[in-house]
Amino acid sequence: MKIICKAYPDEVKCGSCNWRTTRLFCFEGQDPDEIGMCGECFAEFLAEEGYEISKSK
Ligand SMILES: [Zn+2]
Repeated sequence: MKIICKAYPDEVKCGSCNWRTTRLFCFEGQDPDEIGMCGECFAEFLAEEGYEISKSK
């Protein structure tokens, strides 16, 4: 599945943590304006969905 990253000229609020960011992430076909999440939240979401996030060495 493709992941979409939308860049905003002004800061927007992450729908999950309310953190202000200029980039929101979501899956392709979803509306980043509505359900986009900041990078941190999206990474957490992916981990919950079963993706394994490995720490860089
Ligand atoms: Zn967030």
